[in-house]
Amino acid sequence: MSKQEIGGQSQNLAIDLDRLRAEMDDLGAIGRIAGVPGINRPGFSDADMEVRAFMADRMKALGMLVSMDAVGNLSGLWQVGEGPAVMAGSHLDTVPMGGFYDGALGVAAAMECVRTLMDADVTPPCPIEVIVTAEEEGRFGGMLGSQALAGAVDPGWLETAVDEGGTRMVDAMTAQGLAPDAYETARRERDSVKAFLELHIEQGPVLESEGVPIGIVEGISGVFKWSVRLSGVANHAGTTPMDLRKDAFVGLVEFARRIPEIIAAVGTDQSRVTIGAVDLTPNHPHTIPGEAVFTLIGRDTDLAVMKAIAAAGRQQLEDVASAMGLGLAIDEQSWLDPKPCDATIVAAFRRQAEKLGLGYRLMPSGAGHDTQFMAELTRAGLIFVPSIGGISHAPEEETAWPDIEAGANLLLHTMIDVANG
Ligand SMILES: [Zn+2]
Repeated sequence: MSKQEIGGQSQNLAIDLDRLRAEMDDLGAIGRIAGVPGINRPGFSDADMEVRAFMADRMKALGMLVSMDAVGNLSGLWQVGEGPAVMAGSHLDTVPMGGFYDGALGVAAAMECVRTLMDADVTPPCPIEVIVTAEEEGRFGGMLGSQALAGAVDPGWLETAVDEGGTRMVDAMTAQGLAPDAYETARRERDSVKAFLELHIEQGPVLESEGVPIGIVEGISGVFKWSVRLSGVANHAGTTPMDLRKDAFVGLVEFARRIPEIIAAVGTDQSRVTIGAVDLTPNHPHTIPGEAVFTLIGRDTDLAVMKAIAAAGRQQLEDVASAMGLGLAIDEQSWLDPKPCDATIVAAFRRQAEKLGLGYRLMPSGAGHDTQFMAELTRAGLIFVPSIGGISHAPEEETAWPDIEAGANLLLHTMIDVANG
């Protein structure tokens, strides 16, 4: 059969929304805890392993070759055609009290694409692999599975990562029968995968507010994390005159006030700068704060802009500290470069959206996704469907089913397009 015939035959293919919805319901039943809202499948918890065992059975039922690697990535390979596989999928772990769609939608949609092709007797010219990545959500830091696939795991992080309760990641993995020491065996060769496609909920308000069903992601924001310490002098709040204070909190406020100015000067509408956690010492009502330790998270989709924001932030902190007589220490805890999605995959998503008559917009992703590490392994692309109210990581997370149908059909037709390409 020629490629043209495959293309012609698949032109009218459409996913079965009822079947996709039933699979989502099955997945959403795992990780429920009486009295706790939402879905609870933190990475390497029993519920996380249960949902992946469930999905492994679903893959086997389709005749796929099923395997789990050393770090817990679950793979279902539809062994058809020749050459490297087109890979599609997402994650099934959740944050505590998480939502129904985050991650699960991308896995269920990839499975639905395979079922649709099988039902229609459309045989792709290359294998199709459905992947369920491990520890994406960040119980221990996040995106372990895709980092392992791409050969991008920092062994120091692997060894030292702990969750909020102090459990070491390597211990949690070992307890579930995984082999963290063998993480390098999860690595795939770069030309062993033809492309990676992910469907995910937007987790933001843009698509809903514009009434557009599909977001085609052009790139994923880079992110840096600083821990900043401003040191002044803790002293009596009654006896110390206002002009003789070295108040670390006032320094923090002065810097926070300048953040919009930093973005106006060197940022773009894609820039995000956030002070999310603050620790004052001694943190007492009658004592001037002697020390303020806070996190600063900066994001942008452009590396040069991200660097400019970091430089301007550092300059403003130095100015505030010297003007107010405060000590300053900046500890850069992480830096992740922005990652553009593959241009040929973006083009394929656009081509198929236009053929299907689906409205879309190009957009960045402000949140991190496996796609950013998959981009080190292969041509990687990501599409979004709208999040109602922009809400995610919460039980209220929701996406309208017609939007899900649109997104899954775009995934299907792009999968065929890329497989034939
Ligand atoms: Zn997710």
